[in-house]
Amino acid sequence: MRLATLGLSHETNTFSRVPADYEQFARGGIARGDEIVREYRDSNATMAGFLEAADRFGVVVVPLLMARTGPIGTITRDAFDRIVGEMLQLLTEQGPWDGVLLAQHGAAVSEAYPDADGEIAARVRALVGPDVPVGMAIDMHANISPRMIEQTTVTVVYRTNPHLDPRERALECAELVVRTIEGAIRPIQALETPPLVINIVKQFTGEEPMLGVVRDVEAAIGRPGMLSASAAEGYPYADVAEMGMAFLAVHDGDAGAARDAARWLARRAWERRAQMVGDIPSPEEALRRAAAATRGPVVLMDVGDNIGGGSSADSTVILEAARRLGIRGLLQTLYDPEAVRACVAAGVGAVVTLAVGGKTDEMHGRPVVVSGRVRTISDGQFEDPTPTHGGFRYFDGGTTVVLETTDEHTLVLESRRVGNTSLEQMYSAGVRPERKRIVVAKGVVSPRAAYAPIATEIILVNTPGVTTADLSFFNYRRRRRPLYPFEADATYDPASYTTYTRKP
Ligand SMILES: [Zn+2]
Repeated sequence: MRLATLGLSHETNTFSRVPADYEQFARGGIARGDEIVREYRDSNATMAGFLEAADRFGVVVVPLLMARTGPIGTITRDAFDRIVGEMLQLLTEQGPWDGVLLAQHGAAVSEAYPDADGEIAARVRALVGPDVPVGMAIDMHANISPRMIEQTTVTVVYRTNPHLDPRERALECAELVVRTIEGAIRPIQALETPPLVINIVKQFTGEEPMLGVVRDVEAAIGRPGMLSASAAEGYPYADVAEMGMAFLAVHDGDAGAARDAARWLARRAWERRAQMVGDIPSPEEALRRAAAATRGPVVLMDVGDNIGGGSSADSTVILEAARRLGIRGLLQTLYDPEAVRACVAAGVGAVVTLAVGGKTDEMHGRPVVVSGRVRTISDGQFEDPTPTHGGFRYFDGGTTVVLETTDEHTLVLESRRVGNTSLEQMYSAGVRPERKRIVVAKGVVSPRAAYAPIATEIILVNTPGVTTADLSFFNYRRRRRPLYPFEADATYDPASYTTYTRKP
């Protein structure tokens, strides 16, 4: 039994002004063949689970191509055509296949295809034909379209946020594909997409309302004959028709049972909708609370500058507010290659005065002029073998400078945009975040695996930016209407939210 595995994984923030061109993918990582094995085998990413399926189920898994880049703006026409073109060419040249395993994100948008994941699934389906099982494992932030479900045999979504289970879910997906090839099961998928958006600050699966949603998913999986069930939280920064939550059930042979489970999940989540609306403090409020804490570090989540969500990584909004309020002792990263170069030129120990951060766009604050001492310069590379968000292991922040400012802030200036998902980012630069009073982590949920163990308190902060929790900030053109909470009087009647089932 021979299975192909490949993917183009991108979470597209359509409000970001940084296009995902071919160069961005090439820099972020396009791996082919054995490069995929080297990069992913020892990680906890989706691709690692697909590769592991070979040993686990005694099949041959051939890695073809894996392309990903940080969650920036829309995928250019050129990047989509080149990468997907190569994916299909490899599938053709090295086929035929008994099955295909797709490692997608589920919230990709290209210039030509708002539903890029659905387009890729459709092209793969067209190439291998209707009888070859196609499995797809996707991120919990996927905006699942009917087309993605129609064109795949089984789709499995992560069940944790922060995402600590991509490898497990990929294995689950691969197992269903293998059993389908063997003729042991006949998966039928049902998708339910109620008009529901869960605010990004409510998406942590360790707390309500998502804790209850995930428990419901587990209960649905326990129903007789159910092969898999999923709840996608959706990605609100992709302005597409399918933006929002989605509920998926995969049953062995019974379309009615799949549909009933998907509708039950959707109905239960819909009833929790009032708990899914964002309600978090302003930077000033959050900073006052943090400054009043008797013990630190208090971790402030900079929601508007969520690097994992496609932001600029150089927001100065919280830093500026802290300086205005006279609050000292902040630790935070800032993407600022220009400031890094200036500090490197000055050298370790030098005292510099320069403008840092706020250089990408006006949404993420203005450059802040600071004076301080260059404490360390490092290559910005770090490794984290523990399961961090998304399962990645190797990180590269580019040349990194630690700047201690005269007003007692510690700024970690980086040359590449890297999320704050691992403490190794700080340790490798010689900084001990445990000893700081206030740590700014750019993100919403993704920094939790790293910072929750050391934080005395975590406060989500309502900062502006392309990933702000305040969705009224964005001018949506393609989203569905009505959609709760944009239209607070939206209603959900399952009969009018069509269920899509792949023909058995
Ligand atoms: Zn995600």
